[in-house]
Amino acid sequence: MSDNPVTIHRLSTADTDFERRLDDLLAWEGVSNDDVQSRVAAILEDVKHRGDAAVIEATRRFDRLEASAMEELCLSPHRLEAAFKGLPDEQRTALENAAERIRRYHERQKPTSWQYEELDGTVLGQKVTPLDRAGIYVPGGKAAYPSSVLMNAIPAQVAGVGEIVMVVPTPDGVVNELVLAAAHLAGVDHVFTIGGAQAVAALAYGTESVPRVDKIVGPGNIYVATAKRAVFGQVGIDMIAGPSEILVVSDGQTDPEWLAMDLFSQAEHDEDAQAILVSWDGEHLDAVQAAIERLLPTLDREAIVRASLSRRGALIQCADEDEALALINRIAPEHLELSVAEPERLVSEVRHAGAIFMGRYTAEALGDYCAGPNHVLPTSGTARFSSPLGVYDFQKRSSLIHCSAEGASTLGRTASVLARGESLTAHARSAEYRIRD
Ligand code: NAD
Repeated sequence: MSDNPVTIHRLSTADTDFERRLDDLLAWEGVSNDDVQSRVAAILEDVKHRGDAAVIEATRRFDRLEASAMEELCLSPHRLEAAFKGLPDEQRTALENAAERIRRYHERQKPTSWQYEELDGTVLGQKVTPLDRAGIYVPGGKAAYPSSVLMNAIPAQVAGVGEIVMVVPTPDGVVNELVLAAAHLAGVDHVFTIGGAQAVAALAYGTESVPRVDKIVGPGNIYVATAKRAVFGQVGIDMIAGPSEILVVSDGQTDPEWLAMDLFSQAEHDEDAQAILVSWDGEHLDAVQAAIERLLPTLDREAIVRASLSRRGALIQCADEDEALALINRIAPEHLELSVAEPERLVSEVRHAGAIFMGRYTAEALGDYCAGPNHVLPTSGTARFSSPLGVYDFQKRSSLIHCSAEGASTLGRTASVLARGESLTAHARSAEYRIRD
């Protein structure tokens, strides 16, 4: 452990170079990294052409896991069930409680099919259909994430997906029993202990052993994100997840140690994670900075937190609540903690955020595991146009049109005029056949 002070950035919206410094802080090179792109492209091609053999080789190379056949990288339902039954009672109960809350929340998201009838008797509607097969990526390079199993698989199951295929890297062959137990609890059909770009390729193209899926969801590191972007079109994807981020807004009344730990809880994910605190109370920011110095040496992942805070962390002083709101909507954070007395008042003005944690008691960590809403969220400002992972990501919609004879006749007249305007005469004549005098 080190007792060097952390070099977290101190910014003020009153600084003349504030805009530039904020831009620098928010910038993330991400999936535009050429070197990573070419390495990922080579892995994808290899798996596409050589299937299982290429996956086995890449797993040996990147995860140091030896296998002579894919069966050795596939876990049976009995193995998952055994992991669940073998958990200490406390862990099994915690997993069950989390799963129940997550399921209850996602049940409410179910979109429904609908129909209505026009005056001419034509029935129009929308039919919702679950995906036949979904692939879920559960990260496992630097840490194991049982909660990610629940957050990805439960909405898929609630949506009615036919088959759920999970991939999770197991570096050096070390499996995490909680991850396997969560897969059993969430109703995953197949689990392969593979990761990175090779796992994404196997799901996208299919191999002799890994079934080809219709959509790949779930977070992962830069190799996973780059691979997901490359296979999009061949399969659906949920989103391109960047490093995790939190923006905390404090009114100066929350315990500085609580806030320091909330920032750490995000920073400990990885060195590129981003934790930012905004307040209009300068003395409060000083107190949080002191709490950061004090608590940092007590962390298990001190080195990662220190790197993340030094690179991308910030304490920002703004003039007032309005400026804080402008910053929120500009940053469009993945996680937003409103550590203020009346969060409801601010929420109505927040337009862009993946998940909003309201009030001093709502630590983001509670949402990460068990509150109920999904923890797979849009990052790097993409909350401007996208939403948390949900049941709707595992379903698609078909439109329904059922014309009565009268409806075909009235629609036929309109369609015919528009089709002739486009010089598409077969379209026009097809519509005209159905016009009644
Ligand atoms: P990971 O499973 O995403 O990546 C591990 C894989 O990366 C390995 O299997 C390997 O195949 C590949 N890889 C590593 N080095 C490589 C190289 N040099 N060349 C080619 N491939 C290589 O696990 P991770 O690394 O621990 O990353 C997990 C990420 O997911 C973190 O950034 C974490 O913050 C994020 N995460 C996000 C959420 C969320 O909901 N947003 C949840 C959990 C984790």
